[in-house]
Amino acid sequence: MLEEYVSEMMQCTSCSFCTVTCPVMNVLLTDASSPRGRVQIAYGLYTGELEPDKSVAKRLYECTTCGMCDSTCPSGVHIVDVIKAARKVVYPQLAVEKQKNFAGNISEKGHTYGEEKEPIWAFTGFAPKEKAEVAYFMGCKVSAETGHAQGIAAVNLLKYLEENFTTLDEVCCGAPLVNVGAPEEKIRAQMEKNLGEIRKRGVKKVLFSCPSCYYMFAKVYPNHTDVSDIEFQHIVEYLDEKGLKPEDFEAGTEPITYHDPCHLGRVFGVYDAPRNLIKSIPNADYKEMEHNRESSLCCGAGGSLALYEPSLTKKMADRRIAEAGERTIVSACPNCIGNFSKHTKAISIEELLWDMLRR
Ligand code: SF4
Ligand code: SF4
Repeated sequence: MLEEYVSEMMQCTSCSFCTVTCPVMNVLLTDASSPRGRVQIAYGLYTGELEPDKSVAKRLYECTTCGMCDSTCPSGVHIVDVIKAARKVVYPQLAVEKQKNFAGNISEKGHTYGEEKEPIWAFTGFAPKEKAEVAYFMGCKVSAETGHAQGIAAVNLLKYLEENFTTLDEVCCGAPLVNVGAPEEKIRAQMEKNLGEIRKRGVKKVLFSCPSCYYMFAKVYPNHTDVSDIEFQHIVEYLDEKGLKPEDFEAGTEPITYHDPCHLGRVFGVYDAPRNLIKSIPNADYKEMEHNRESSLCCGAGGSLALYEPSLTKKMADRRIAEAGERTIVSACPNCIGNFSKHTKAISIEELLWDMLRR
């Protein structure tokens, strides 16, 4: 797998542009914890100059896959892909127990948290229909990190708009497996179950509340199989296109700000849709954080870092929370919301819109 990236790794000129922007590097302040350091470690693993050991694994797993480095690298190195490929080398021997348990739960039980519980759709109270052109894929992180609330609000909004949609008898999209470096066959098994379910119901368009699920379907699944017959979209884009109007909402909000999730922003360029929706609320008390849109700071929970080194996740979240000040953080990613909610007030954009709707 690393051999696919040899020419990219060799394109690195050690310019350090990625280093100054990496949110992990800005906390740890060691070059080995910089994106270029991780690329050099990956190259060392490829050539055999480095043995996979604990310190190597530490540098590779201390990354949230936020993509800030990819967007700043002038040499076009796909640094996040290199890091993910290198994680596959260290995963069998050096992933920590929490990461292994997490991956094991997905393969055995279909979702990330392992307790025997109802199917994910059941938490919305809206059972899958036999056939529908539009489907809502809730995602197990939505269930676990927002106490199902983000998914329930999303379903309520779609019902409010009188959309003919279905939920799905879904399993985890496989993103956490990619993040820890689990074997390809485990990721493929999740993909096949989900695509079988989607096609069985005649679905042509799938909506997501979780940017990582969206990323898996739109960017990773196509590397394995043809999905050109299905369209994928984050629900904020869909709701924005539907054009909720100021008269749909009660006026005013508590002081709020919006946190751009890394994948939704840097990978898909979705910056305007959530802001348009928030600004549809008359007299919303809204203010941007210092780092926003393309320069948004990672919440610290991505890329399995919250499992590997929760104290580092906390330090990264603290930086972002300081920018938000007293404002409630609104976001469009269950992982960000779950992470911020441990330390401050945070809510999904679906819940905000549903709470504010006149109905
Ligand atoms: S993906 Fe983010 S955390 Fe990881 S190396 Fe790049 S900038 Fe740093
Ligand atoms: S920005 Fe790109 S070329 Fe420059 S050090 Fe980072 S990975 Fe290497």
